[in-house]
Amino acid sequence: MLSAELIILNANIITLNPKQPKAEALAIYGARITAVGSNKEVYRQAGPETKTIDVRGKTVVPGLVDCHVHMTGFGDFLQSLNLRNVDSIIEMQTKLHEYAKRNKERSWVLGGRWDQERFSEKRYPTRKDLDASVNDKPVFLTRVCGHVGVANSKALELAGITRQTAVTGGQVDLDKATGEPDGILRENAIGLIWKVVPKPTLKEVEEACFAACEEAVKVGLVCVHWMISSASEVKAIQRLHSEGKLPLRVCLGISVDDLEEMVSLGLLTGFGDDMVKIGFIKILADGSLGGRTAALKQPYSDKPETRGMMLYTQKKLNELVAKAHQAGLQLAIHAIGDRAIDFVLRAYEKALKEHPRKDHRHRIEHCSVLNKSLVKRIKKLKLIASIQPHFVFSDFWATDRVGSTRARWVYPFKTLMQEGLTLVSGSDGPVEPIDPILGIWAATARKSNPQESLTVEEALTTYTVNAAFSSFDEHKRGTIEAGKLADMVVLSDDPFQIAPDKIRNIAVEMTIANGKVVYAKQTFQSSH
Ligand SMILES: [Zn+2]
Repeated sequence: MLSAELIILNANIITLNPKQPKAEALAIYGARITAVGSNKEVYRQAGPETKTIDVRGKTVVPGLVDCHVHMTGFGDFLQSLNLRNVDSIIEMQTKLHEYAKRNKERSWVLGGRWDQERFSEKRYPTRKDLDASVNDKPVFLTRVCGHVGVANSKALELAGITRQTAVTGGQVDLDKATGEPDGILRENAIGLIWKVVPKPTLKEVEEACFAACEEAVKVGLVCVHWMISSASEVKAIQRLHSEGKLPLRVCLGISVDDLEEMVSLGLLTGFGDDMVKIGFIKILADGSLGGRTAALKQPYSDKPETRGMMLYTQKKLNELVAKAHQAGLQLAIHAIGDRAIDFVLRAYEKALKEHPRKDHRHRIEHCSVLNKSLVKRIKKLKLIASIQPHFVFSDFWATDRVGSTRARWVYPFKTLMQEGLTLVSGSDGPVEPIDPILGIWAATARKSNPQESLTVEEALTTYTVNAAFSSFDEHKRGTIEAGKLADMVVLSDDPFQIAPDKIRNIAVEMTIANGKVVYAKQTFQSSH
């Protein structure tokens, strides 16, 4: 027998394998786990070339999967100028100046997340403030809400924005003294800037994708269900993979805009290899609760004149779902409001009635505003509910939007779990932090509807066992057992042994994906 390449010793291994829930050690050869058991048993696989890592009692869990993340957006976020928590315009100017110096090759300086409420000057920044730091290239920095931004003179000039510019559904603020644009652009006026910002080069997209992957393995992710928004991203992922630089697995979430091409080429869910493969077709059925664009049955409680919007008619949605379903593709449909979820269920019900398929594993993304009868229908169709636990904390205004009666049925994780549904978890980053530990914390320690909290085991299962099931990989991944792919995370603490509120403080100390150490925070004693 070949000896192991890597052995992890003295660990508190939580395998999530019901036949052997706990272990002390495990051995890896190539991309796979070859033994799981006591130190003594596993050490039998050691040979002269075997590297051993003594994790000194630390907890090891199966590698975590983010089932819904916009990785390129996250990469852009990491690489842009971040002005969150900046306390003055002077500090903003310093950061802008330094960022432009560090990123000379970029033709535009983009970023933002500033908030004038925090500024000691107690006013909005202006074009002049930005010009003082950078005047040789265009700068555009959005406010934390994304609905307001500030441009420097160069950016205004390139976008052709003058005192005469009129925008429907938007505004170009003018300086009271001079009558010229002061740099602040609101709502649709922001679009004038985006029109002239050059599309990122393939190299820039690759850099953003790589930065996102590097950050993802630091928080314990070994696989991401990557929501694709451009061909450059798919190219970048393939390039990183062929160069051996891809540190984690990627399951592609392909936009319904590309459905025709997928079908005409005969590309199916699962095509690819263990590192990169085609996942599902993603359709957006409605908007967001925050923006009051999620489609509700009854009007918004805090804006009774609206009940949100559906992005498709029932007929069109039925057609798209039928087409992807009949082609043999898996579907993942974004539906937040109860009206949108009802529409999506009708489309799935119709497609599955006309073309029954046992193991379709179709998904509903977010699946936020529910009621008893919707839950029953989801269960009947055996759909996967793809939840984003951290929304529970971020959407603290949910009760304002939908009122207390409906709020009881917003993100009812425990009810879904008790009904026997398959739940998978994701972040929806960069909208939310991508850290899955924060997701596990949010799912277990929720303050709104605490009765809908999951147990640690349930939450962990959504990020591992269930995630593997959702990509048809339950025989290869999701648990720590011999024969499965070697994906795991070493944690600073055992989430089962601490108070739910403390889970957020757990640190990822090491991430192993596909048998390789892709991230290590501290050097454990390792030897040959
Ligand atoms: Zn999303």
